[in-house]
Amino acid sequence: MLVQYLAMKREHPDSILFYRMGDFYEMFFEDAIAAAPILEVQLTSRDKNAEDPIPMCGVPHHSALGYIQKLLAHGFKVALCEQVEDPTKAQGLVKREVIRVLTPALVGDPDLVREDQKALLLAVKPTDRGFELCLLDLFASEIRLGRALSLESLAEVVREFQPKEVLLPSEVPSSVETLFSACLVTKRDTFGSAEEALKRYGEESLKARLPSLSVGPALFGSDALVLDSVTLSSLEVTKANSEGGVSLSDALNLTGTSMGKRLLKDWLSRPSRRAEVIEDRLDAVQSFLDRRDTADLVRSSLSNLRDLERLATKTALGLAMPRDLVSIRDALLRLPALKACLLHSESRSISQRGARLKPLEALANYLQRALEDLPPAVFREGGIFRPEFDPRIAECRALVHDAKSTLAAMEDRERARTGIASLKIKFSRVFGYTIEVTTSHLSKVPKEYIRKQTISTGERFITEELKNFEEKALTAEHRGKALEESLFLEIRNQVAAEAPALLENARVLAEIDVLQSFARTAQTLGYTRPTFQAGGLLDIEDGRHPVVETLLKAGTFVPNSVRLCPESARTLILTGPNMGGKSTIMRQVALICLLAQAGSFVPASRATLPLLDAIFTRIGSSDDLARGQSTFMVEMTEVARILKTATVDSLVIIDEIGRGTSTYDGLSLAWSLLEYLHLHVRAKTLFATHFHEMSALENTLPGVKNASVLVEKWKDSIVFLYKLGAGVCGRSYGIEVAKLAGLPSEVLVRARQIQGHLESESQRSSRTRSTSLAPMSGQLAFFEESGPPDKPSPLDA
Ligand code: ATP
Repeated sequence: MLVQYLAMKREHPDSILFYRMGDFYEMFFEDAIAAAPILEVQLTSRDKNAEDPIPMCGVPHHSALGYIQKLLAHGFKVALCEQVEDPTKAQGLVKREVIRVLTPALVGDPDLVREDQKALLLAVKPTDRGFELCLLDLFASEIRLGRALSLESLAEVVREFQPKEVLLPSEVPSSVETLFSACLVTKRDTFGSAEEALKRYGEESLKARLPSLSVGPALFGSDALVLDSVTLSSLEVTKANSEGGVSLSDALNLTGTSMGKRLLKDWLSRPSRRAEVIEDRLDAVQSFLDRRDTADLVRSSLSNLRDLERLATKTALGLAMPRDLVSIRDALLRLPALKACLLHSESRSISQRGARLKPLEALANYLQRALEDLPPAVFREGGIFRPEFDPRIAECRALVHDAKSTLAAMEDRERARTGIASLKIKFSRVFGYTIEVTTSHLSKVPKEYIRKQTISTGERFITEELKNFEEKALTAEHRGKALEESLFLEIRNQVAAEAPALLENARVLAEIDVLQSFARTAQTLGYTRPTFQAGGLLDIEDGRHPVVETLLKAGTFVPNSVRLCPESARTLILTGPNMGGKSTIMRQVALICLLAQAGSFVPASRATLPLLDAIFTRIGSSDDLARGQSTFMVEMTEVARILKTATVDSLVIIDEIGRGTSTYDGLSLAWSLLEYLHLHVRAKTLFATHFHEMSALENTLPGVKNASVLVEKWKDSIVFLYKLGAGVCGRSYGIEVAKLAGLPSEVLVRARQIQGHLESESQRSSRTRSTSLAPMSGQLAFFEESGPPDKPSPLDA
């Protein structure tokens, strides 16, 4: 056995080998040592008395899934080694084979990956012109292709998609490999294109043909509103930054299916930039709002719908179990009514989605006729099919069912016939069915009884009738199970052949689900339909922050209007006290633009918006000590990227910049980069700062406007109004806010003294500083030194 084990292990050195022995998967040697603590199972040893006992541990086969999941989550691969012949019939050692290698990204079983998460595999091939990429979402049977032109852009793909696993050629620079410290890295010698390598690796692991893969949107498509990983994280689009926090997708999620939940995250993290896509979604939302009956029917069709996307892929990979096919059948049976309802919609957007649905009626009816409503979890035990479906199944079942009553009747009859009241018909594995007669009654045994075995209390006999019965009953059960198994495999292949149609259905259902969710949010939270206008105007009337609003008591969020106009107010400098609501307003503007381009209504009484190509944020302090970057360095790196990639169609949100260095350093940097953004990049910019000196820019740079969040003094404290007004906030309220935070009064009194002193000092020099500084010229004279900087679009190939 160990020889067999070691041979398998040699072929799968980078996997934990699950070696099937009876009802257990056993692990040996270093696999056992690595896995036991993760699986929380006892590490024992085989042959304890030997000099060098072999470490081993094991998990029950029927609950293996949970254990496999733990190992995958820890970045291991698991090679499943099964017995491939019947152990009761095997001569000598049972033949075994590795039937599949499960990796963090190559799992066909939906139960192994949380329903709202993805398991992505990225193949990367370095080339002369950057990196060729291929990203596989096995559950969606989809690949996406792209070419990253720089290491930074590759890093961005990794941050954005967070693949669970990456495939690299053996000879890869360490600068590339370090990008993948958070995922499992697999290397292969023969690579070809990234796509070829990925498919080969997929088939090698799954030991099956990959389902037919559709090609999704390009990784660096120009159709998407670009939200880089920093922006996604600081706006908390799909993940909150604090424990117990609420992300945008959490706050908005009223989807009914896991497919919808995943697509909602997709749409929010990759909103569109194409007007027709956005308007199509908005039309659907509008229509669901206008026609509640349609929306209600859609919602009821979607409720308790299983994950058709993952079930389709599971089936295509040959892994579906009877209950999976029942779930697919149930989903299909809902489609005709749903399709009819969607087709009837006056909204083209909805009726076109209805037209895309494929109810596969023939297949659905076939499954309906064939499958029991609650079949067993596995397919080797029978009980899958309705008896009416196939007369042979009915016959086998009847035989098995009748066996008990036939036996009881036979026993009664034999007792009466022989006059032996204690006569019993018994079953044993070795001798099968026998008639047992105790010693004292042996004289009454009829002559046609054939003696089979002597036991301590008497003798066991068989009869011709009993032998015939035995053959029928036992073979019927066996025959029935084998028949059901082969029918099941056949029917599973038929369903697998329809995988592309099932996946298309899954996509449509997910879209409909997100659109009805948008409609329901709009209805319950009072969102309105945004309008888009060429020319760059951004005009939000009474906007609200979609997440903060839901966390506060109803009606307490103070709405605010924000207007950015390319000529007269392209840049807004926001001042105001800490805690005054600056960050909230700026994020709110970004989130409203994002929601609108995702196709959702927005939390505002009216919103006229530009079609943005990207949103960039630089918010809050964070350091990246792991990569050797201080807080200030992170801040500057992020700003540098924004200046390089933002365009006139981008929205830039900068919340505090230049605070991690001396005041003059910081102010100078903040000042200069605002000028650059305004004059050179010309992006729509919201810029919050505590450097009040910067408000002077309003007078010198056309298109820069000041705004501030209002506070009122009340006794010797302050009250936040959360209202945005024009102009500068006259003074800082840092000491007041520090007081609210509970700083000792000695510290506060001393701070006031120092503040008074510093202010009188600075007043003397202020006139010569801020207002008299000539703005950066519109033509940016300093470029003459080195020519205008390289300015790639935010999009790669
Ligand atoms: P700092 O300068 O310290 O970063 P800030 O001015 O950016 O502060 P925010 O973080 O935006 O302030 O807001 C602080 C808190 O005020 C929020 O967590 C929220 O609870 C509340 N708040 C903000 N805006 C509003 C609003 N419009 N209506 C009601 N409450 C609000």
